[in-house]
Amino acid sequence: MTAVDETGPPTERTRVRRLPERGAYDRATIDAIVDEALVCHLAWVTDEGTPRVIPTIHARLGDTLFVHGSTASRTLRAIADGCEVCVEITLLDGLVLARSAFHHSMNYRSVVIYGRAREVTDPGERDLAQRAFVDHVAPGRAEEVRMANDRELAQTAILAIGMEEASAKVRTGPPKDDEADLGFGVWAGVLPLRIVAGAPEPAPDLEPGTPIPGYLRDERR
Ligand SMILES: Cc1cc2nc3c(=O)[nH]c(=O)nc-3n(C[C@H](O)[C@H](O)[C@H](O)COP(=O)(O)OP(=O)(O)OC[C@H]3O[C@@H](n4cnc5c(N)ncnc54)[C@H](O)[C@@H]3O)c2cc1C
Repeated sequence: MTAVDETGPPTERTRVRRLPERGAYDRATIDAIVDEALVCHLAWVTDEGTPRVIPTIHARLGDTLFVHGSTASRTLRAIADGCEVCVEITLLDGLVLARSAFHHSMNYRSVVIYGRAREVTDPGERDLAQRAFVDHVAPGRAEEVRMANDRELAQTAILAIGMEEASAKVRTGPPKDDEADLGFGVWAGVLPLRIVAGAPEPAPDLEPGTPIPGYLRDERR
């Protein structure tokens, strides 16, 4: 099954042209991928005209994607002034092994977002964003942990990127071999892949008897 989308791309540059039937532009598809992924890749072009890409943690609130880091981060300093950025997120769902080398593929759900980064300076928005980062990694944890104090917040840059210009691309299903190769006699199919959490490893200095939170017991992505 491929993604079926009745909404068109928000702009021409977001239109999936290669295998367009795999493209999707609806918020539900895009948001689900963004929310499931633990990391994104943030790309921009420097003032010197050279490309850069950095893996980083993200969190989404509504139509806004937040990234954060040290105020000393060269990346965040470089893109904080309205710089045009591109964000990419991929969830890898399986290896697609065909009879022919040519038709090997992967099952995936991915998102590309074009936008401009804006530095978040409003204290209320900064507070919402910092909670979103924590809850994105471990839902409910922002209510439990000590949130950043003023000194820590002063060291943290938070950037917001609008998600109005986004596309998703989704591949699912078995390999698509040529008819002539079907009798080739080599195994073909899909090896599903997913992130599996191991058993939680308590910090060596954890107070004995501290319960394991439910969001860790149920972790599955
Ligand atoms: C895990 C993984 C492995 C892949 N491996 C390969 C590979 O080996 N070779 C290969 O050619 N392609 C691969 N792809 C697909 C690749 O991401 C591109 O979609 C494809 O190469 C078409 O590129 P294009 O420049 O012609 O895209 P176009 O269709 O021209 O792109 C136009 C617009 O469509 C959107 N778009 C394109 N691709 C994606 C995407 N993946 N997710 C979200 N939006 C998208 C963007 O907004 C882009 O600006 C892979 C994708 C994933 C996620």
